[in-house]
Amino acid sequence: MSRHPTVAARSAHFPTIPDVPLRAHLAQLSSMGAVLSPGESFHPFPSGATFMALSQQQIEDQKKQVEEMLGPDLAKLGFAKSVFFGHVRGDLLFPYPKLSNDLQKQADEQAEAVQQFCHRSIDAATIDRQARIPDEVVRGLGQLGVLGQTVPVEFGGRGFNQQQYVRIMEIIGGHCASTAVFVNAHQSIGCRALLLFGSKNQQAKWLPGLLDGSKLAAFALTEPEAGSDAGGVQTTATPTDDGAAYLLDGIKHYITNGGIADVLTVMARTPDGKGGSKVTAFLVTPDMPGFEVIEARAEKCGIRGTATGKMRFNNVKVPKENILGQIGRGLQAALTVLNFGRTTFGATCTGHAKVCLDAMVSHSKSRKQFQQALSEFQLVQKKIAFAAAHQYAMEAMTTQCAAFIDNGADDYMLETAVLKVFATEHLWTIVNDTLQIYGGKGYFCDQPVERWMRDARINTIGEGANDVLKAFIAVVGCKAPGEKLKGLRDDLLGGRWSLGKLFAGLGAGAKLAAPWLANTPTVPVTSPDLQAEARQLASLVKQFGTTLPHVFLKLKDEAVFVQAQLVHERLADLAIDFYAAACVLSRLDAGPGSNHYAKAEYGKTFLAMAFRRIKNNFAALDDNDDPAWLSSAKVALG
Ligand SMILES: Cc1cc2nc3c(=O)[nH]c(=O)nc-3n(C[C@H](O)[C@H](O)[C@H](O)COP(=O)(O)OP(=O)(O)OC[C@H]3O[C@@H](n4cnc5c(N)ncnc54)[C@H](O)[C@@H]3O)c2cc1C
Repeated sequence: MSRHPTVAARSAHFPTIPDVPLRAHLAQLSSMGAVLSPGESFHPFPSGATFMALSQQQIEDQKKQVEEMLGPDLAKLGFAKSVFFGHVRGDLLFPYPKLSNDLQKQADEQAEAVQQFCHRSIDAATIDRQARIPDEVVRGLGQLGVLGQTVPVEFGGRGFNQQQYVRIMEIIGGHCASTAVFVNAHQSIGCRALLLFGSKNQQAKWLPGLLDGSKLAAFALTEPEAGSDAGGVQTTATPTDDGAAYLLDGIKHYITNGGIADVLTVMARTPDGKGGSKVTAFLVTPDMPGFEVIEARAEKCGIRGTATGKMRFNNVKVPKENILGQIGRGLQAALTVLNFGRTTFGATCTGHAKVCLDAMVSHSKSRKQFQQALSEFQLVQKKIAFAAAHQYAMEAMTTQCAAFIDNGADDYMLETAVLKVFATEHLWTIVNDTLQIYGGKGYFCDQPVERWMRDARINTIGEGANDVLKAFIAVVGCKAPGEKLKGLRDDLLGGRWSLGKLFAGLGAGAKLAAPWLANTPTVPVTSPDLQAEARQLASLVKQFGTTLPHVFLKLKDEAVFVQAQLVHERLADLAIDFYAAACVLSRLDAGPGSNHYAKAEYGKTFLAMAFRRIKNNFAALDDNDDPAWLSSAKVALG
């Protein structure tokens, strides 16, 4: 028998959950994998020679960090978390968000003004070549209100909501990636931290200059030893003896605007009073003695117009009034702020993807080879179709995340992570495909395509590397169903389980908590044309919920699960496509759009592509070469 049986072979030993009585299923859980025959046992880390480099203590520490970042209240599920239960929170995505006429008009007018400003005053090629965004551009953006676009009117901002704002950022993202990242760092993650966590005094003191561009903001989290692992921040903030201030000591690098900003939100470790430390956010200005710019503009691959800085804090004395938010809650503040940054990322990627689509279409129609326009070749058409479908989905997902923010939704942290991964990963494919269609022409610097490629490369690294986010999506998504199943198993093992107790314990949430008890969910589309796709999505989501317990069983325990990133990637990719497909269905259900990027055909094709990817990912949960990959990596790593 094959060590890694196909789906069909496995199903002979492993009936789908709805077919087995509940008691039998719980017995399966209790034996944690004993239902697999010895020949079939699945070890993501072959022959005990594992990549489990972390000790139990380190795993516990990392869990604590995640808890700190997640915050205490996970009771209300967002859409993405609900799919891990095989459940569809259609109420969160349907009907498709729509601005009121007034807000739409305001957004349209500003979009038109920003579009004109971009064409008139932002020369993306020169910005890239000279590695600098001219002061006139910054001032112009300030005068247009872009730098304070979402800041409330009472502070002098334009008071846009997030759905209006993403419209503006899509335009800038499609025109100049450097400018888009600059605005995002300044506005979305710079001013936003002040708005969300600043006191009235802090807001009154710091915001005004930031809105017109006379002052620049930066957000400084990353350090040489704290990149993806944000909890590894080593910069310290030691209280002075009189308790009136903190002394900041440490280094920050890779900080957008860091060396040119007038105010920086800096993350540093403060004592927690129990012998340990926690991360706290401080407002720091470069005129504070001990603030040193080591490098203001590091040379880099793309988004070259942005100034990426490295700074050292040599016992910089920061008054305690400059603490932003609560002491010890800095990572939570950072994560909250990132929700906004990632939504903006979705918008800028959408803008970039649309520009690529237009470029693919126009070049492929004008360039002839083999007596035919390139556009007549199917492999060129395939790339164009992919771009058209995915820009449609990116816009739908961005709009939904922006609406979550505007509606004060309880829980959308996973959705913004999903959007960030989806938009950046697929934009990279789209840019790469654009260069392919351009051929040699695209490789030269008189065309924008090579710059687009350099610019797009940072997206999968910054604001949370995609690999880390995929693991995050899977682990956070699996947390609640995993705990629920573990609780059931523990009760069973301890002889505490009975059917009556189970139902009493789960109460009205029984179906939610145990998807195998539930009916297939519904996706609430109204259009008759979309019923088949809606049913298909619902049934695939249900399959996800019923498959997860098997995944947990195969991985045997939590410690193995936490390390099983090849599995995480598949689970995350599934959740990503579920969210994307649901957003696309919602957008399609709202009727045809008003521009040539909004054609229903693109949305329908996206659904077909996403459903196929989902089926492939389901199959790969059982039928894969993970052990071979891992043992090769082990050989290479020595
Ligand atoms: C141009 C630019 C601008 C930036 N602007 C800012 C800013 O304004 N403020 C700020 O605070 N930071 C900023 N950053 C930093 C950025 O957020 C970090 O680069 C990012 O978080 C990754 O950290 P790292 O570069 O140290 O990579 P590392 O943490 O060393 O990771 C390198 C790679 O290892 C892999 N990896 C790491 N951890 C895992 C894991 N757990 N599982 C699987 N794979 C993993 C991933 O493939 C990852 O890409 C900027 C960076 C750049 C390049």
